[in-house]
Amino acid sequence: MAEQVVIIGSGPAGWSAAIYAARAELKPLVFEGAITEENRLAGTLPLGQLALTTEVENYAGFPAGDLKGFLESAIDPERFQYMFVHEGKHAVTGPELMELMRQQAVNFGTRIVTDDIVGVELQQRPFRLRLLGGETIETHALILATGARANYLGLPSEETYKNRGVSACAVCDGALPRFRNKPLIVVGGGDSAVEEATYLTKYASKVHLIHRRDKLRASKIMQERATNDPKIQIEWNHTLEEVLGNDKEGVTGVRLRSTVEDATRELPASGVFLAIGHTPNTAFLKGQIALTEKGYIQWSQPFRTTTSVEGVFAAGDAADDHYRQAITSAGTGCMAALDAERWLAAQGIH
Ligand SMILES: Cc1cc2nc3c(=O)[nH]c(=O)nc-3n(C[C@H](O)[C@H](O)[C@H](O)COP(=O)(O)OP(=O)(O)OC[C@H]3O[C@@H](n4cnc5c(N)ncnc54)[C@H](O)[C@@H]3O)c2cc1C
Repeated sequence: MAEQVVIIGSGPAGWSAAIYAARAELKPLVFEGAITEENRLAGTLPLGQLALTTEVENYAGFPAGDLKGFLESAIDPERFQYMFVHEGKHAVTGPELMELMRQQAVNFGTRIVTDDIVGVELQQRPFRLRLLGGETIETHALILATGARANYLGLPSEETYKNRGVSACAVCDGALPRFRNKPLIVVGGGDSAVEEATYLTKYASKVHLIHRRDKLRASKIMQERATNDPKIQIEWNHTLEEVLGNDKEGVTGVRLRSTVEDATRELPASGVFLAIGHTPNTAFLKGQIALTEKGYIQWSQPFRTTTSVEGVFAAGDAADDHYRQAITSAGTGCMAALDAERWLAAQGIH
């Protein structure tokens, strides 16, 4: 028998959709992703992007505090025993927040399968989904909440200093004490790189924007913003060759390589922000649903989570290349569940 609603994805969008769908008695089934080496390397293991970070200071409702007792009482003991819970007063960490969301969805009856959906057939109803092992499952409504992943350059030193000075999100991490009144590096040349650099000037003593060409790709207005800002220095014709640092301090600087001559130089910095784009986790949807040029799922109406396929709804970063925050993903996850519930009711399925 076909499911009423399947949710693919296990970040804030997926769990918020599951909480709302479960409370509406849709008995949602969530595919949270498979635990595979491929997903580990891509940064797409279950619990999504927040599972890759430390403290989350901007998710409303979670001021810093001593959360250990609360986490222990709220989360299933089976899972709690494997969690690394920080002692003392701190903002909720990404993994803690995601475990809480998952548990909240479970509490209302959400069922979870720890596997990837690798193919979909959306031209027929019920929709058919294919799991990693080849099995298939059918569903009347589908919520896509597969998220996105930040692009990195792939340097080993970048990996070493992730969460210790290397970041792909200025809005998320810029305000951390380690970046205050220190020189920072932003890598990239598009609008989002300029946006990140401008945002970081609030905290940094100086922001070096590293760009491999002699012209920015950013729009004219953004270019002007970067060139007129006394705190931003554009390092033209350079690439990031290595992130420098040590165990005690994390990032301490970078080595840049010139793209026009055989030369390198070093700059001191306490942080390196990659702004070279994101990749939405939508490859398995190609040809089945309308995607944007950059591969994001296209919402078909403003302020709705509907897509080009009736009965399929999208939420979170997989459909949003603009805000990319946990709270906005949770918001559209809630919207997708409400949209799916109304659609199922109109079809006489629920
Ligand atoms: C290092 C870092 C720090 C961040 N810090 C903050 C912060 O402090 N505050 C903030 O608001 N935002 C922060 N963000 C951004 C925030 O994490 C994202 O906006 C948010 O997680 C997006 O949620 P999502 O539900 O759309 O998807 P994601 O969190 O991207 O999760 C989607 C998950 O779904 C699963 N999935 C994907 N494809 C499939 C498939 N085919 N089948 C089954 N499962 C699948 C995978 O496990 C994937 O990881 C940070 C991001 C990063 C990378």
